[in-house]
Amino acid sequence: MRAVYPGTFDPITHGHADIVARACRLFSEVIVAITDNPAKRPTFSIEERVEMAQAALAHLPNAAVRPFGGLLVDFVKAQGAQAILRGLRAISDFEFEFQLASMNRHLAPDIETLFLTPDERYAFISSSLVREVASLGGDVSPFVHEKVRDALYQKLR
Ligand code: ADP
Repeated sequence: MRAVYPGTFDPITHGHADIVARACRLFSEVIVAITDNPAKRPTFSIEERVEMAQAALAHLPNAAVRPFGGLLVDFVKAQGAQAILRGLRAISDFEFEFQLASMNRHLAPDIETLFLTPDERYAFISSSLVREVASLGGDVSPFVHEKVRDALYQKLR
């Protein structure tokens, strides 16, 4: 079985990587699908986000990183995957994730959405908080891969 883990990953954090590592134990392949939707106004380009995710996940042999555009369920089918993965940190994630899963089920009833929770060390991290701390000169090395940390300081300081 193959799963797709979609998101903006602007940038990838240890929270995301923890979800991917857990999924790699359950699926034969986990595809991290990075959206190129410009409406999200990401800080990093799609190429930068793909490169950082590849560096952060290099230790996971059955994880792959791919950019994607268009409808997620079409991408999932084109990759020959059966499941969509999302991470749940706190109850505040639930409402949006439930909406998204319900819409994707409506669009593609045979694809399941699965939720994984991260190690509690990472349950409070988000890409936006990491960007904010880095832009103010705070140390983000406990939360992101060293390549991501360097890219954050270069981009934001
Ligand atoms: P999106 O814009 O699609 O929400 P994100 O990159 O912010 O993209 O998040 C992708 C997925 O990873 C979402 O399901 C989100 O809830 C989850 N996620 C984000 N940060 C963490 C974290 N620290 N631990 C676990 N899951 C996370």
